[in-house]
Amino acid sequence: MSQPQAYGLLGWPVSHSLSPAMHNAAFKALKLNCHYALLPVPPAEADHFLDTLDSRGLCGLNVTIPYKEKALGRVILDAESVYLKTVGAVNTLVKREHVWKGFNTDIPGFLMHLKEQFNPQHKKCAIIGAGGASRAVAYALAQAQAKELAIFDLDTAKADAIVAMLRQLFPAFAARRADAVADLDIRGKDLLVNATPVGMKAQDPLLVEPEWLNPWLFVYDLIYNPAETALLALARQRGCRCANGLGMLLYQGMLSFEIWTNKKAPKETMLQALEQAGEH
Ligand code: NAP
Repeated sequence: MSQPQAYGLLGWPVSHSLSPAMHNAAFKALKLNCHYALLPVPPAEADHFLDTLDSRGLCGLNVTIPYKEKALGRVILDAESVYLKTVGAVNTLVKREHVWKGFNTDIPGFLMHLKEQFNPQHKKCAIIGAGGASRAVAYALAQAQAKELAIFDLDTAKADAIVAMLRQLFPAFAARRADAVADLDIRGKDLLVNATPVGMKAQDPLLVEPEWLNPWLFVYDLIYNPAETALLALARQRGCRCANGLGMLLYQGMLSFEIWTNKKAPKETMLQALEQAGEH
């Protein structure tokens, strides 16, 4: 058999990633001679790696922290993706007709999963955390015509930067930076998104007070390992509907797969692979 077409996940660190299991299962199910590998590249080597993509025999890439912004500078954007320059991140690269094209599948991936359970249109939303994933979530909520959005991050400059991004792309959208978690006014919100890594470790603190979680609040934690963070356990106890980030991971992966292969992604196969890989 000829050499498989090479795909991979560029990031640092990437050893914990479930993406190879998900994509290799999909390639196998569709009998495609393709392979997806981890591409751990330390920061000192990232520029060189991105400058020499052509010589590496790669057909497509996912990009994760800390390189989603850096990768943006190395790709051509389709006309309908020019807004990604303002969002500041691409997570999917594909080589088409000798040029590297960039996409962001985190944005539609989050929205597709959220909308299965909660429609953010005209809803009041809050996000804790203002890193790369938060930028995608904030864009997605504004695009879905949420009513308002408050964002808190310990690093106020990052939250301000998301508000500025939203003002530029959605001038009429009501977005503000909160000065503390308490200032998010979670009691008055319909949707709370955790976009921090707080909750990945058992000893992590809870960032919210139990009495802030009303039963009509939908709580979305971007974390998928553990499957139920302390925040989600509390939300469940308080009668809230909630979701972890496994569905976002699945949908962003399906959309990347479809960009690379032009074929419909095998959803059940990919979900099963994620669930199995997550157990190990
Ligand atoms: P990131 O760029 O490191 O952003 C996390 C942000 O949260 C940082 O700005 C961080 O501030 C802030 N933060 C940390 N502790 C905080 C606290 N106690 N209060 C307020 N803000 C706090 O990471 P990311 O890529 O955005 O990822 C965030 C989480 O989402 C991770 O758990 C990641 O695994 C998950 N994620 C899931 C998916 C999915 O498909 N489900 C996709 C992407 C990311 P400092 O930098 O000052 O610490």
